[in-house]
Amino acid sequence: MSGELKCLLALERRGALSEDELFLLQRLEAGDRGEAELLAMVESVFGEEVWVRRNVWLDRQVECDLLVVTRARVLNLNAKFYQGNFRYVDGKAFFNQSELRSNPVLAFQRSMDRLRELARRCGLEDVPIDGRLVFLNPDYSVSVDGSNVWPCVGRADVLKMLQDLRAEAGGGRLGTGYNSGSRRTGTPRGLDINWVASRLMTLESESKYWAAPLNLSHLQKIYRGLLCPSCGNRHLSVSQRVVECACGHYRISKEQAVWEAVQEFAMLLHDQPVLRTSELEWYLGGEVRRGFILNILKENFEMTRLGRFTVFQNPFYREPRENCVQRLIDREDYIKRNSTIQNMNRITGANKYNKQTKRK
Ligand SMILES: [Zn+2]
Repeated sequence: MSGELKCLLALERRGALSEDELFLLQRLEAGDRGEAELLAMVESVFGEEVWVRRNVWLDRQVECDLLVVTRARVLNLNAKFYQGNFRYVDGKAFFNQSELRSNPVLAFQRSMDRLRELARRCGLEDVPIDGRLVFLNPDYSVSVDGSNVWPCVGRADVLKMLQDLRAEAGGGRLGTGYNSGSRRTGTPRGLDINWVASRLMTLESESKYWAAPLNLSHLQKIYRGLLCPSCGNRHLSVSQRVVECACGHYRISKEQAVWEAVQEFAMLLHDQPVLRTSELEWYLGGEVRRGFILNILKENFEMTRLGRFTVFQNPFYREPRENCVQRLIDREDYIKRNSTIQNMNRITGANKYNKQTKRK
């Protein structure tokens, strides 16, 4: 699952997404489902005879939904899960009759060109590099004329395609496989799968796409505190050691529940190099004492000084692609203002120790 999808799912659970973001989430979830299904098919056909990785980025240039190395070739399988009929005619792509502005076949062609160039750079110049566009949604049709360079495969033909690839790779038997005459990549049974895969993985990189950074509108909407990952319930019973949901599917140590929430918020703050205890206290909605959070942070994250304050390094930090100074200031300011009010309430509350046990 991509970082972008993880962030959107976390925000969705906490009710913080805009309409547009909800739409994006649905699209990414469908893609994720397509990838998972395709992976299952590859594993069922090839078993242990291939090396396969899901959702790989190479050199921040090429995204492979599924990167497969057989004894005959390297395959980049691009999974599509379109909610509509797809047609490709004379180099133009249509989705339910209307032409797509971003043509997935041409985009895939560009990505394959880059992949071949990258493979050449890492010493795989004599290894066949191949690709397929695979349309997985069973409810819609795919029709493609001969003008495409890369094969497009509809769901009904996926298994046949994989079986052909396995046969070509000598599947199971001591086949002839691929014989390039190269001493480095070839073995008598075809490509040295692990060697080829390890060469490709020297190019592995982060995704080119950034998850949406947390903005003020998210902060205003977001549900804070611990919640049940199983049913989404926001009213968990929190005792001294255990967090429990009335649905019966979630019972976990308090330490683990808080640690998971801490990691979630750190991931959402991926444009921020450091984390402050006060921010996490805010995120947990005042349900967990600062000392408890601080201990978890000290145990798991690296401490660093920021002026007079001790802060923690955010392991999810990823340098943003734009200037984000103003956003960071706005966010810090928002959290600070809202924490102050919350702290005031707490101080005027009758008994602060009741807080933990009173919650339902
Ligand atoms: Zn629940």
